[in-house]
Amino acid sequence: MTMPAFRLERPRSLADAVSILATHGPDAMILAGGTDVVPNLQMKLFSPRVLVDIKPLAKNAQLASIDWSPANGLRIGALATLTSICESPLIREKFPVLAAAVATIAGPLQRNMGTVGGNLCLETRCQWYNQSDFWRKSLGGCLKKDGPICHVAPGGKFCWAAWSGDSAPALLTLDAEIEITGPQGARRLPLAQFYKNDGMDRIALGRDELLTAVHVPARMAGRRGNYHKLRVRNSIDYPLAGVAVSMHVDSRGICRDARLALTAVNPAPLLVKEACEWLAGQPASPELIDRVAQQAIRTAKPLTTSGSTPVYRRDMVRVFTRRALEESWRSADGK
Ligand SMILES: Cc1cc2nc3c(=O)[nH]c(=O)nc-3n(C[C@H](O)[C@H](O)[C@H](O)COP(=O)(O)OP(=O)(O)OC[C@H]3O[C@@H](n4cnc5c(N)ncnc54)[C@H](O)[C@@H]3O)c2cc1C
Repeated sequence: MTMPAFRLERPRSLADAVSILATHGPDAMILAGGTDVVPNLQMKLFSPRVLVDIKPLAKNAQLASIDWSPANGLRIGALATLTSICESPLIREKFPVLAAAVATIAGPLQRNMGTVGGNLCLETRCQWYNQSDFWRKSLGGCLKKDGPICHVAPGGKFCWAAWSGDSAPALLTLDAEIEITGPQGARRLPLAQFYKNDGMDRIALGRDELLTAVHVPARMAGRRGNYHKLRVRNSIDYPLAGVAVSMHVDSRGICRDARLALTAVNPAPLLVKEACEWLAGQPASPELIDRVAQQAIRTAKPLTTSGSTPVYRRDMVRVFTRRALEESWRSADGK
């Protein structure tokens, strides 16, 4: 489990970081908190010649701060730690779905080190990929790394490695946008367009670009919301299934607007688009909640992994969807 040899670059500014990435292209890899990169390097999943450590750029307040204004909404710098997000009184009060999801990521140590940028750019995961070099080689490798076969879906040429981050589904339910900085400057992209739903080619990010911030529109503040997650050990593990809900409910109990998103059951975190259409303008009813839960199951495509079965994970998507919607309808709206 030793690390491969690499050169460590510590850029002094964002412009410096972009220039290093542009110079080294596919030979460079970004390191933020390192809580995903370092174990992956130890498992020899990558062997970058240059590791670009962007964590010291957190001294630039813009890259690590959490800012809110009614005019501009919420802005979180990509280097903000997960702990600073889930413990932020502002996020807990105005964006409860995000605070709830981030609080379930890994354990306290990883949340202290890990950043929201790293969480949104996480590698996809698979039982046959996230293993030591020795273990992988004994099976002849896998499609995602260095073999001809997908052990999850033998015969197929598509990689089903699962998106296993927790903040993305919450941010999808808040219509978040991300800010990406590259040689041409900064651009904004809806988070929903960032994910490609391909286990091998997971995100729309150039080799010379980095994620610099997350934006949530002010109109999403104060919505009810929550997050439910299935994992082997509640104290630390990655999700095996996760459901995030954000909802605006009026004083008569009518849902005015809702979003529902899934994680860990596809190669991308996905919005269940029908939920948004079907819930708007409706009061709570067991039939409606059931219909949305069935649609969530149809969106989820979990395949074999250790710690659970596809059937159980799909069933938990149904249970979590029901629970999340019922809780959201019951809780008080902050609007
Ligand atoms: C035991 C354990 C349990 C875990 N459990 C969970 C869990 O339950 N849920 C979960 O979501 N995660 C989990 N993780 C993974 C990880 O801790 C978090 O996802 C964390 O947020 C990653 O952030 P980081 O800053 O450490 O990213 P890093 O490890 O530094 O980077 C992760 C990936 O993102 C890229 N990257 C980082 N920052 C940027 C940027 N600004 N722009 C572009 N690319 C970037 C890196 O190149 C790398 O590919 C777990 C990790 C461990 C070790």
